[in-house]
Amino acid sequence: MCGIVGYIGSGDAVPVLIEGLQRLEYRGYDSAGIAVAGRSGLKVHKRAGRVDDLVATLPKRHRGGVGIGHTRWATHGEPTDVNAHPHLDASGHVAVAHNGIVENAAELRAKLAAEGIDLVSDTDTEVIAQLVGIRAADMALEDAVREALSMIVGTYGLAVIDDRRPDRLVVARNGSPVVLGVGRGAHHVASDVAALVRHTDQVVHLDDHELAVLHADSYRTFTLDARPTDKQPATTEVTATAFDLAGHDDYMHKEIHEQPTTVARTLSGRLDRRFATAHLGGLDLSARDLLGVRRVKILGCGSAYYAGLAGALLVEGLSRIPADAETASEFRYRNPVIDADTLYVAVSQSGETFDTLAAVQEIKRKGGDVIGVVNAPGSTIAGECGSGVYIHAGPEVSVASTKSFTSTVVAFALLALHLGRVRDLGPGDGTRLIDGLDALPGAIDEVLRAEDAIATVAREVIAPAASAFFIGRVRGYAVALEGAQKLKEVSYIHAEAYPAAELKHGPLALVGPEVPTVVVVPDDHLLDKNLASVEEIRARRGLVIAVTDAPAGALGEGGTTGPGGDGRFAAVLRVPRTEPELAPVLLGVPLQLLAHHAALALGRDIDRPRNLAKSVTVE
Ligand code: GLU
Repeated sequence: MCGIVGYIGSGDAVPVLIEGLQRLEYRGYDSAGIAVAGRSGLKVHKRAGRVDDLVATLPKRHRGGVGIGHTRWATHGEPTDVNAHPHLDASGHVAVAHNGIVENAAELRAKLAAEGIDLVSDTDTEVIAQLVGIRAADMALEDAVREALSMIVGTYGLAVIDDRRPDRLVVARNGSPVVLGVGRGAHHVASDVAALVRHTDQVVHLDDHELAVLHADSYRTFTLDARPTDKQPATTEVTATAFDLAGHDDYMHKEIHEQPTTVARTLSGRLDRRFATAHLGGLDLSARDLLGVRRVKILGCGSAYYAGLAGALLVEGLSRIPADAETASEFRYRNPVIDADTLYVAVSQSGETFDTLAAVQEIKRKGGDVIGVVNAPGSTIAGECGSGVYIHAGPEVSVASTKSFTSTVVAFALLALHLGRVRDLGPGDGTRLIDGLDALPGAIDEVLRAEDAIATVAREVIAPAASAFFIGRVRGYAVALEGAQKLKEVSYIHAEAYPAAELKHGPLALVGPEVPTVVVVPDDHLLDKNLASVEEIRARRGLVIAVTDAPAGALGEGGTTGPGGDGRFAAVLRVPRTEPELAPVLLGVPLQLLAHHAALALGRDIDRPRNLAKSVTVE
C-alpha cells in the first residue's frame, strides 16, 4: 500500500515529487508528505488528506536537489499530520518514507524509549527513522540504513535522505516494490513505474533484500549485506499516455471503455487455429507436465479471487480437471495440504498483493508448483512464480478493478483451452472457443454502446437504494460476486451476492420493494431456474434487474419497466450472445457500468473510494 517517490538531480525535487505523488495516489491516499534537502537543510511538509491538500498548503520557498515523498494508507496510527510520512529522526537530519509494516515496531519503540529517544508519531515507520538517525552521524548513510534494517522484522519499500549528505538518496526493498528511474543528470525512485515514465523509460526493479544508493549522475545496487548486484536498466513498455484520462472524467470510466482493446491484447498472439488451442509463452510447463495435473487450485483476493472463481469454472469445464478458487488470505493461514499433482495459480493485478504473495511462498515452501496470472510485468508475484500468464491489460489506475478483472477471466479461458486441448477437449470445441474469444472485443464494444440505458437504470433503480442483492447460478454467480463488489467499492451501497438458490435460505427475509436484486442470467440450462428465483423475489415485491445474453423475450420480459412498472423486470440489460463458457466475460461489463453510474449519481470519488487502496501490499 502507499506510494513512495524520490528524486536526486540538478533540478528542483519538489515539482517532480508532487507530480509523482499524484501518479501514485491510487495506492493510498489518507495522507501525503515530502521532505527535501538543499542548502538550507531539511524541509518537511506533510498533511492528512489528499495530495491536493498538501499542494495547497506547500510553502513557496520549499526547494532542494534531493527529496522523497509518500502517499499513505495507514496501518499503524491514524491518518494525521504527525503520522504522515516522511518521518524524521530525533536529530532532524534524516527523513524516511516507508511502505510496509515493521512487525517488531513495539519492541523497537520500547528499546528506543529506554535509550532516551522520544517518538513523536504512532507509526511503525518512525522507528526506522530513529534507528538510521542514531547511526547516520558516524557512517555512510547507506551503511546506517543497512544496519537499521538488520534490526527490522517486516516489509518495506524505503527511501531515506540525510541533509548532511545531500549528494545521495538511499532506497531499499523487502516485500514492497521499489523501482529506480535512470534519467539525464537525475535519478528517480518510485513504488511504481507510473511515477517514472514522464521522466525516463530506463528502469531498474529492485529485488527483495536489495538496497540502492542514488546520486545525480550514478547509482549502485547492493544486497543488504553489501555485495554489489550491478543491476542494469531495462526499457519499460509502459508509456506516459497510459496514465492520461484520455477525455474521460475518471480512470474507472476510461478503463471500462478500454476493454475491447485490452481483451484483444490479452488474446494477441495466443490463439492457434491450426491446433485449435491457445499458446501461453510464459507458461513453463510441457504438455507432459500438464497431463500430470490432477487438480487446479486458484488463489487471489477481492476481484482477483472472483475472477479466479470464473476461471475455475472455465478450467474444470474445458479440461475436466477438478478446479476451485479460494481466497489467498485464508489459504495461507489454514496450514493447507500441498499436493504435488495440483497446479496452483496465483492471481493478482498488481503482482504485489501481500496475502497472495504469502500464499505463493507457502506453496513453494511445501514443494508445490505455482504459476501466476498477473497484470504488472516484473512484479513480485510474477517473479516469485517464475512462470505464468501475463494478462496485458496495461496499467490500471482506478482502485476498483475493471479491465484487469475481464482480462483475467479471458486469460483463464486461454489457460483452460490449453489444458483442455492437452486432454480431452476436441478440436471442434477448441475452434468454437477460439471463434468466441476472437469475437469478444467487438462484443464488449457493443455492450459499451448501451451505456446510456445502463446509466439510467443505475440512477433510477440502484442509486436510491440503501442495499442491493446480486444473484446468479454457477457462471452467473461469479459475475454476481464481482458485480456486488464493484457496487460496494465505488457507490458505498451495501451489496451482497448469493448463489440464486441460496436466496430462499436466508437473505429473502430482506427482499422487498426497497431492495433491488440484480440477477445474472446466462443463456444456459439454468435459465428457467433463474426465472424461478426472479418469481420468488417478485412475490415479495422486490425489483429485479436482469443481466443476460439470452435473446429478447427469453426471460418473459415485457410490460412497463422501472419502479412501479407491471413488467417482470425493472430493467433487462442485454449483452451479445457468446459461447456459453465465455458468457461471464460479457455479463460482467454492464455491472461495471451500473456501479460506476450509481457512484456518479451519488457524487462519490470514483477512483479513490474511501478506506481502499489499489495494491494491497500489507496484510
Ligand atoms: N506502516 C506505515 C504507516 O502506517 C506505512 C503504511 C503504508 O505503507 O502506507 O505509516
